[in-house]
Amino acid sequence: MVEVKEKKLGKVFLVGAGPGDIGLITQKALELISTCDVLVFDHLANSELRKRAIENCEQIDVGKSPGSHTMPQDEIGKILVKKANEGKKVVRLKGGDPFVFGRCAEEMIVLDQASIPYEIVPGVTAALACAAYAGIPLSHREYGSSISFLTGHEDVEKESLRVDFAKFAEVGGTLCIYMGMGTLKEITIKLLDGGLSPEKPAAIVSHGTLPAQRKVITTLGNLVKDAQRAKLEAPAIIFIGNSVGLSTERNWFEERPLFKKRIVVTRPVGQASRLKVLLEEKGAEVLELPLIKILPQEDRKLIAETFAGIATYEWVVFTSANGAREFFKLFFKAFGDIRSFGPMRVACVGEATAEVVRKFNLEVELMPKRATAEDLAQALVATDSLDSANVLVITGNRNREVFVGLLESVGRAIVDTLPIYQTDFADVLEAKDRSNFIEKGADAIVFASSSAALSYIEQEEDLKLSEGANSPIFCSFGTQTSETLRENEHSVVIESEDSTLESMVESIVNHFKE
Ligand code: SAH
Repeated sequence: MVEVKEKKLGKVFLVGAGPGDIGLITQKALELISTCDVLVFDHLANSELRKRAIENCEQIDVGKSPGSHTMPQDEIGKILVKKANEGKKVVRLKGGDPFVFGRCAEEMIVLDQASIPYEIVPGVTAALACAAYAGIPLSHREYGSSISFLTGHEDVEKESLRVDFAKFAEVGGTLCIYMGMGTLKEITIKLLDGGLSPEKPAAIVSHGTLPAQRKVITTLGNLVKDAQRAKLEAPAIIFIGNSVGLSTERNWFEERPLFKKRIVVTRPVGQASRLKVLLEEKGAEVLELPLIKILPQEDRKLIAETFAGIATYEWVVFTSANGAREFFKLFFKAFGDIRSFGPMRVACVGEATAEVVRKFNLEVELMPKRATAEDLAQALVATDSLDSANVLVITGNRNREVFVGLLESVGRAIVDTLPIYQTDFADVLEAKDRSNFIEKGADAIVFASSSAALSYIEQEEDLKLSEGANSPIFCSFGTQTSETLRENEHSVVIESEDSTLESMVESIVNHFKE
């Protein structure tokens, strides 16, 4: 008998991603993103959301940034149909709400025609989000009783698609205009011609809910001039109406201590996230410019030999958090049980490294006051326990000779090194935020290691700021990194007190408070 396999039916979810702040996505949307087979997204949806997808989820960029339509609408429709027909669970992620100027209707029609089942998940639309995050009320009992969502993006081909702004001047209430930055001047002229007073309160919020959020609160008569002066750009919402006049200049979102500060983090991809999150919580706009990359260096033979003799060491010394992380990854691959680690004493260069080690409930017996290799060597020598002792040093490929030399010559230890990762300069030309940095500069740039500083110095030509761009102050995680910068004629304004991310963020906050 021939077995007829029933075709698995796929499904499409047209999902609102919210306006930008990742915290404004719905639980349902997040659940769908983290379980779908195919994720179709464009540039308005926060790119962090893509990281929530499963590893083998197919991600398709149909990126529609203003002015560059990478993929025509009917192509997008075709993709949705094709993937659903393959039996896939497809999420079409759209900025804000799918039904608000999101071309969701077109996609629904295509899916209906192809008899493909779909669901729609609403999202927080930009007008509501921008109003909330900029402290602009959209209604008030005393003023106006309507809120209108309009689009300023006029289709010149089709007269019928043009918004008659003069009529909306009569409607009154609060007008929320999407996609209006390209035609801001025309819109204001039409509203004034329609009878709105130049004194009518007006505002613009660009990049709403994101660290780059900027706003002006003014009057209709001054809107164009003030928007130009504040250099506001798309995406932005234009608000006009009496209740807009009730907004306050400052609000919770903009009062965070690093709001309007642009800070560059130079840590390797994957490690930048925690510092980024901490800075963003304080309101900063974070640019990522990885200067180094960490590559695991697996000399299998050496690793096997070291692990075979692991119980013979009296000290295990971790000179970096990267080294500690890699070491335990390999260790558990080999042993699967912490008891194989042995009774040796553990030393770490600084707090960040110690944090990694303590995660395994291992006690860190020694940590120098300042997180430098030299201080670590001196502290070890001062324990008077090195003479003829077997010491294992977990390192990277850089700067280990001096350290090991001190342990051997001054402490008379028998040192084995286990180089476990390799630090290389990352090519800044590949950094996604490079052009943004060059164009506008930043308020601060953070160096986590001497290698990052060296990489910066070597590639400085490729990071030359445009005229008028803001030159950042230099921040360093420790004396060695600062020295490297100073030797190359960069003054270091902030050096964090210990090597933790929290203390760096605190120092930056304190600096800008002053
Ligand atoms: N479906 C989306 C709107 C898409 S149209 C929604 O519901 O929000 C694109 C327009 O939305 C942009 O031109 C801009 O006017 C507005 N927009 C989207 N995200 C925004 C943001 N973070 N800040 C300000 N405006 C935004």
